[in-house]
Amino acid sequence: MTKIKDKVEKWFVRDEKVLITTASTTELVNKAIKIHKLTPTTTAVLGRCLTMSVLMSAKLSHDNANITSIIDGGGPVGKIICVAKKGANVKGYIQNPLVNLELKQDGKLNVSGAVGTKGKLKVVMDLGFGYPYSGEVDLVSGEIAEDFVQYYYISLQQPCAIALGVLVGPNNKCIVARGILIEIMPNAEEEDIAYVEKVIENIKDFSKEMKEETIEDFIHKNFPDAISLQCDLEPKFKCSCSKYKVKTILRSMKKEELETLYDENDEIKAHCDFCNKDIILNREDLN
Ligand SMILES: [Zn+2]
Repeated sequence: MTKIKDKVEKWFVRDEKVLITTASTTELVNKAIKIHKLTPTTTAVLGRCLTMSVLMSAKLSHDNANITSIIDGGGPVGKIICVAKKGANVKGYIQNPLVNLELKQDGKLNVSGAVGTKGKLKVVMDLGFGYPYSGEVDLVSGEIAEDFVQYYYISLQQPCAIALGVLVGPNNKCIVARGILIEIMPNAEEEDIAYVEKVIENIKDFSKEMKEETIEDFIHKNFPDAISLQCDLEPKFKCSCSKYKVKTILRSMKKEELETLYDENDEIKAHCDFCNKDIILNREDLN
């Protein structure tokens, strides 16, 4: 298979009554594997969550905007947190990245077994104007896509369909990762919804189709009237942590409090859970 560049695309179908956002995220997921030393199971879990974050980020236009998704399903992987920013820049964290479960009977990676099914999905959306709003729903299946459909329906009152797929190869490399978000616009009619539902039924095996065709082929095959919208976003795993930010936080602390943080080498070590890096500061840095 030829290498597909990570990208986000948008399409209108049914006379602009249905908006489709697609995301190819293979390289991004491979970067997440490296950063968090993911197993095939946790690659599928975090890969799906990151891809969903990319799909949601396509709406962000303000520099300070961000969307944080937190999934806590009670399963062995623990909490999963992803943050999306403008420009399809995302970062993600999974509490127990080394969890690896046996494949399910149908040969698929056991995402719901790893995430758990008895818990919540919380999404905090800050469009950049200083009024973040959050919504929380019970998990439907722990398979991620269905859980986000529920969030869109209950919290955003937005009917939609979502498919997320992450294929992992035998060498624990992501072969292909992609997602599709189909949003029904308020002006849609019954027949548009019925049409979309019929297409969705036919794409149940999203991951199987992913291996065999590009996302463009997939859209044109399933939605022959699709019109591509100008959208040149390239998804990236990008963390915004920095020595400067840690310095600012530490400098705001009381001197005696700060003193307790120094280790035997006279350094303060801070860890970023998203990019899994240590940030080390010495007394000179904090003078
Ligand atoms: Zn970081």
